[in-house]
Amino acid sequence: MKFFKYFFGTMLFVCASAFAQDDIKSERKPGHTNQNKFKQLYDEFATPNMFRTGSGAPGPAYYQQQADYKMDIEIDDVSAKLYGKETITYTNNSPDELTYLWVQLDQNMRAKDSKTPLINSSGIGPATSASRATSTYLKERFDGGFNIEYVKDVNDKDLPHTINRTMMRVELPKPMKTGDQFSFKIKWWYNINDHVKDGGRSGYEYFEENDNRIYVMAQFYPRMAVYNDVEGWQNSQFWGRDEFALPFGDFDVNITVPADHILDGTGYLTNREEVFTKDMMNRYNKAKKSFDKPVMIVTEDEARKTEKTKSNKKKTWKLSAQMVRDFGFATSRKFIWDMMAVKIGDKDVMAVSLYSKEGNPLWEQWSTRTVASTLKSYSRMTFDYPYHKAISVHAPMGMEYPMICYNFGRPDENGNYSDRTKYGMISVIIHEVGHNFFPMIVNSDERQWTWMDEGLNTFVQYVAEQDFGEWNPTALSPGHDKYPSRRGPAKNIVRYMGGDQDFIAPIMTKGLNTYQFGSNAYSKPATGLNILRETIMGRDLFDYSFREYARRWMFKHPTPEDFFRTMEDASAVDLDWFWRGWFYTTDYTDIGIKEVKKFAVTNNPNENGRKLAERYNIDPNALVYFIGEGDEGYEDALKNGKSIEDLPTVKEYIMDNFTPEQQKNMKKSPKYFYQVTFDKPGGLVMPLIVQYEYADGSKEKITYPAQIWRLNDKEVSRALATDKEIVAITVDPDLETADIDTSNNSWPRETKESDFDKFKNKIKD
Ligand SMILES: [Zn+2]
Repeated sequence: MKFFKYFFGTMLFVCASAFAQDDIKSERKPGHTNQNKFKQLYDEFATPNMFRTGSGAPGPAYYQQQADYKMDIEIDDVSAKLYGKETITYTNNSPDELTYLWVQLDQNMRAKDSKTPLINSSGIGPATSASRATSTYLKERFDGGFNIEYVKDVNDKDLPHTINRTMMRVELPKPMKTGDQFSFKIKWWYNINDHVKDGGRSGYEYFEENDNRIYVMAQFYPRMAVYNDVEGWQNSQFWGRDEFALPFGDFDVNITVPADHILDGTGYLTNREEVFTKDMMNRYNKAKKSFDKPVMIVTEDEARKTEKTKSNKKKTWKLSAQMVRDFGFATSRKFIWDMMAVKIGDKDVMAVSLYSKEGNPLWEQWSTRTVASTLKSYSRMTFDYPYHKAISVHAPMGMEYPMICYNFGRPDENGNYSDRTKYGMISVIIHEVGHNFFPMIVNSDERQWTWMDEGLNTFVQYVAEQDFGEWNPTALSPGHDKYPSRRGPAKNIVRYMGGDQDFIAPIMTKGLNTYQFGSNAYSKPATGLNILRETIMGRDLFDYSFREYARRWMFKHPTPEDFFRTMEDASAVDLDWFWRGWFYTTDYTDIGIKEVKKFAVTNNPNENGRKLAERYNIDPNALVYFIGEGDEGYEDALKNGKSIEDLPTVKEYIMDNFTPEQQKNMKKSPKYFYQVTFDKPGGLVMPLIVQYEYADGSKEKITYPAQIWRLNDKEVSRALATDKEIVAITVDPDLETADIDTSNNSWPRETKESDFDKFKNKIKD
């Protein structure tokens, strides 16, 4: 008999779920297939090996190539041409024999015969502006391609080479074996583009007043392609969108510009005494000790004076950088220059800004401070910033290089600016300085995986923006108590994810081939990481794992699997379902409440109860029955009391089945029984976050892990036994999961006026 009694105890709850399962099965249509959203990602992932381990870390045979550069560069400010000579020393650390090298000629994207303009469909609209008509139909295309004068070995012997658009294959005189080094020389020149008119990530902006230019230079030299264990040579053409894949190396670069220019770029300035005035040197030494505010190295007054005249003398600035994947520099006679020191770990780093008077008053106020704040936030989230400086340059666009980046944000001619301009500038500086970490140091392949730099970076940008707002309250506009971040919070991605599926591509698609590039490669991955951090993993587990990824791949070349695997390896959170849904599909979150059913407890069975007792061959009088509101016998059950509150509790019904000793352990005495059915019209799997509100006004939030959907991707039920009446239920009450339709998220259903109804009612009024 004892066994029999125990059996009842468990039966009670088995019954409810047995019925629910039966209902669901009968609703299944023939051909229904389980989509296996919890299947491990073995098919999609590359197999771990000696180069990259199953834990997501570099393996014992991990290698990377090295490319060292010695360059002499000169800018002719009159003709806006760049002339260059370089010696590249390439080291083959791979176990493979190489018979040729691939060199990237990115400027050829702007060559006269570039195919980039030919890959977009075009049409003729009913009208267009005169300037657009001119640039589209009347103007000859700007020729900004590289003119390669020679490719030679160090003995001045010509090397056979083939240029295929933006890639140049250089044939080696003899194959390079593991550990071999090969040096070769290239001489080139090109016409620098006006990137305000013609676009581009580098180039010059022309200022008619005083006939001056600000040059922000990048991709200005033939650069080695990456050779590694996953791609062989990464020689996918540069069409203009997908950014760059570059090996690390050391750079010694001499840059000759007009003598009245101010110049800064990647690396240590090794001839500071030669190019600085005495005043600049004194101010620089002061700046190195100024941790609370920037010190002017070149003031606005000085820059205003300089830009009025032109020197016909030249000056050479010498920069030297170690372990960088690229090189950028900015030069102009218009530059104002300020710097401040920032403590990172036990090191002092210089936060630097270069801008013209057009950027003020915004730039002198916030640029360098934003750089300093960004270095602190990112170092906290990843590793201590390893370089000695980070420069923010005033430009028409945002773009990043090691230690230097170009950022927009300009007040009007009277120095006035909107909130949008101010926050836009601070955000782009945080973003581009942040790129020092991803992909300049955690050196992912941007040509292939835009999200690995933009997505990860945009995620940390969000964290850094919130830090910035907290640390610089005076930067916030009246009425803002925190920084108004655009990308990061889950609710901000809803419009994109709920949009037309024909114009959405999975994150794991090459950037060139996606619609809505910004949402695809920046916002969605950043939001996904934010959901992992705030909702799925929690900050401690996420931050530890994210730092581990950054630390493991600092100064190395990670792949997507290395990231996915490390996040799981360091946290013990199985995330394959999340990577699959968020990164490999275009599914969206939509979870709702389908039905809430109240149950009365009775010892008086209805038809279903009798059937169940029969099926399990149990004495019907020995069972306790749950009868749902609206079902046969519900009203009869209620008659046992005046209302549901007065019903004997389940405890009272079954107590005599247990010994007094066993009864002592039964602390709960629930009165209310509910079966809540949640449905999931959206394809994405997400934790089921539910807030229950009780009659006494108290609220309880329960998060059912995403795995609740593992056996049924469409709907799940939960049985609730409570001693308080539930008056309201809300799914995802804090909008954490990017649920695209919240109209089904509440019970009782909120009757919200739709936009159409509002419109109709307005007409009636
Ligand atoms: Zn970016």
